[in-house]
Order: sequence, then structure tokens, then C-alpha cells
Amino acid sequence: MLLTNVRSTEDWKTHRIYVNEGLVDCMDCKGRKDGEVIDCENRLMTPPLVNSHVHLTIWSTKGKPNESGTLIEGNEIYLDVLKKMNSDDLKERVLRALKIMFSRGIMYVRSHDPPISLLSVILEARKLSPVVLQEVVFPTPGSINEDTSAVEKFLAKGAEVLGGIPHAESTTEEGIKSIRTVFEIASRYNKLVDLHIDETDDPDSRFSAYAVKEAIKRNMCESLTLSHITASHSYPGEYWRHMRKCGSVVINPITNAFLQGRYDNYPKRRGIARVKELMRDGINVSIGTDNVMDSVFPLGDFNVFRAAYQLSFWDSLDINEVLQTITFNGARTLGIKNYGYPRKGKNAEMVVLNCKELSRCDPSLLPFLVIKGRNLSVQGDSSIHLTD
Ligand SMILES: [Zn+2]
Repeated sequence: MLLTNVRSTEDWKTHRIYVNEGLVDCMDCKGRKDGEVIDCENRLMTPPLVNSHVHLTIWSTKGKPNESGTLIEGNEIYLDVLKKMNSDDLKERVLRALKIMFSRGIMYVRSHDPPISLLSVILEARKLSPVVLQEVVFPTPGSINEDTSAVEKFLAKGAEVLGGIPHAESTTEEGIKSIRTVFEIASRYNKLVDLHIDETDDPDSRFSAYAVKEAIKRNMCESLTLSHITASHSYPGEYWRHMRKCGSVVINPITNAFLQGRYDNYPKRRGIARVKELMRDGINVSIGTDNVMDSVFPLGDFNVFRAAYQLSFWDSLDINEVLQTITFNGARTLGIKNYGYPRKGKNAEMVVLNCKELSRCDPSLLPFLVIKGRNLSVQGDSSIHLTD
């Protein structure tokens, strides 16, 4: 397949790219080539998009309505939903989610899911999709300090990351202990760590400081991800200094704007971490879409471009920073090797957006073209080309 008039966001120049048997055959190709020709009409090309944080087990599930709109009530309903879940339903939903994401240009995603026996279904189902799904074993509060066998079982089975949620443990001491336990297990299995951490409006929630200290002690800064840290919105000015250049931060702007500040009077806090300060200090920040159509958040989709775009309204990111958070920064969070713009001889992985200027891209539009190896999605239609 020959792509003509592809404008790369790497050098802002127009290229002719020939993809043959899933590989980039040439980048500025001369002469005629076999196969289909697609004129991209100067649309912008980016590397694969990365969704750094989702929860696939519960996406598109129904439970009782979450009347308070809080994370606490959402999680209570979720535990009920889990009891009724079966493997066929879970497999179908996981594959549907991955297909939706692929049509959006998302080729790498990290999902946090509990260590119930159905987690095996996700570990198997992911092999059927071109989207690379990185799995986080996410223990429920109270469990990691009691019995680590369930999480260890799935780490041994191939999950890449160990999760945790220290601010939801019963006491501060239990929360700190859970951080140490997570790091101890992750280093024993040589896995990454991604903690839901300080996802509250409480300015005294400071578990990220303990996680960073533990990561520095164990030389695991590149392995650490701090997810949410919404409490940081309310920290006094210079508190960030403890975090300097250790670990990545994942922001889930849409769900946290929905969940946080529920008990505030005006002005209401929006629960968005200090992205601008983090990025200025050189900390790697990437974006997730978190809960989608479930007991925690009733709407949403996996459109990480839209999530990053909305974040830009709340913390004044420019459009280049938006793109950075959902491409290279996401790749660094997930530790993806060989990530980047297409290169001659490498596996073809690229997204041609449906726009010609980055500042005028409508994030609700499906990409014009998504290519990953032999898998192709044209304007969202991935049905005829996807692998089984
Ligand atoms: Zn989450």
C-alpha cells in the first residue's frame, strides 16, 4: 500500500510511505509501487496513540445507579457487578473495547483489573487483538497486606504491572505498608508498579511521597507510575519537590473532573493534578480514559485524544503538549520499546489523523487511517482487516 501526501508531525514535511507486508518499505519512495494507493491529502501523521489507564473488566457494565456520583459508591456497586460477571461476556467486552481503541488509533493500552479468576480471560483475549494490552493486577483495598497469593499468581501468568491503592486502605499505616508490599513483590517478579494514589480531594493525602521514596531506594523510578494524584490540586505550592524526576504520572481528566469536588462549596475543585508544573519539572505525564460506561462513570469512551484535549482547557496545555502526552509520554509510562515514527524496515505503526493542522484537529473525529503491521482501519472501519 502506498500512502501519498502524508504530513508527519515529526518534521512537518510531506512524505510518500510504502507499506509492504506490514513493514515500512520506504519513507520517501520514488516511482510506482504495487497495490493500493491512498492519497492522505496532507493530513497529519503521528506515531501510535497510547491510552495509559483504563479498567476493562468493568467497562460497559450495569449496576445500581451511583446516586452520590462518588468513587466510593461506584466501587461498592462494582464489587456487586463482579460477582455476576461471566467469562464469555468479559471476553466479548474486552475485544470490543480493543477494537474501538484500534479504530481510534490507540495501539497501546494499560488496564487495571482485580486479581479474580476471570483475569485469566483478559490475559488470553488480548492475544487476539493487534492492540498491545498491558495488564495491571490491581488488588482491592485490604487484600495486598493480607494475602499476596492472588496477585502473585497473575504476575507469574504474564501480567506486566502490579497496582495498589494506598489512600483507600483502612489507615495511613496500612496505606504505607501496602506501598512497601507492592514494591517488594514487583521487584521480586521484575514487574512495573502503577498505583492509584492520592485520588481524593484531601490535601493531606501524601502517599505519592512514600511511593517515590520507595522507588528511589530500590532504583525503580523508571518502573513507577503514579495514577490520578488528584489531591495534588490542593497541595501547598512547593510540595511537588519530593516527586522530582521519579516515576511517570497518569492523569485521567474526564473521570476525575466528574468525581472530584463533590463535597466542595464554590469554587469547586476539579481534581486535576498539577500537570503544567509536573511537565515543567521534567516529570513524564501521560493520559488515560479510566472508567468507561460503568458504576464509577456512566459515560465516556476510550478516546484518549479527547481526554488530553479537555485537560488542556483545565491546565492550559498547548496542542503540542497534548499530542506528547498521548504518544511519546504514554509510551514511556508503559515502557514500550521501539516506539516512534515509521522508519524504513521497521514494523508499520502510524495514525493519519483527520486534520491538516494540529490546532484544528477535532478529537471526536475518527482517524483517517490507522496502520499496525498488517492491521488496518480506514475511517474507523476495521472490520474487514483486523486479525481474528
Ligand atoms: Zn483508575
